[in-house]
Amino acid sequence: MALSIVDSCVNCWACYDVCPSEAIYDSKPHFKINARKCTECEGDYAQPQCASICPIEEAILDASGVAINPPGSLTGIPPEKMAEALQEIQAR
Ligand code: SF4
Ligand code: SF4
Repeated sequence: MALSIVDSCVNCWACYDVCPSEAIYDSKPHFKINARKCTECEGDYAQPQCASICPIEEAILDASGVAINPPGSLTGIPPEKMAEALQEIQAR
């Protein structure tokens, strides 16, 4: 079982140093997780450290492909409010 990093990753390096398994690597166009090395932090931490520190919602998925930090979870902004705000900004 392993987590994965997807396109919305901004290559900030935050997750790189906190991984206890050295499973995260710098790659193009974004960082990736070596599935053979990722332990989902079991035995080291109660929570996946990469997802705990990642500042981008939906950038890290669990083994089922579900975002660990879903929309609104880090900003506290409900997704529908964010969509409204983006529409308003684009209309300026
Ligand atoms: S879940 Fe843990 S072991 Fe897997 S990549 Fe993230 S920090 Fe590393
Ligand atoms: S912390 Fe998140 S945004 Fe930063 S490199 Fe890791 S996956 Fe990408």
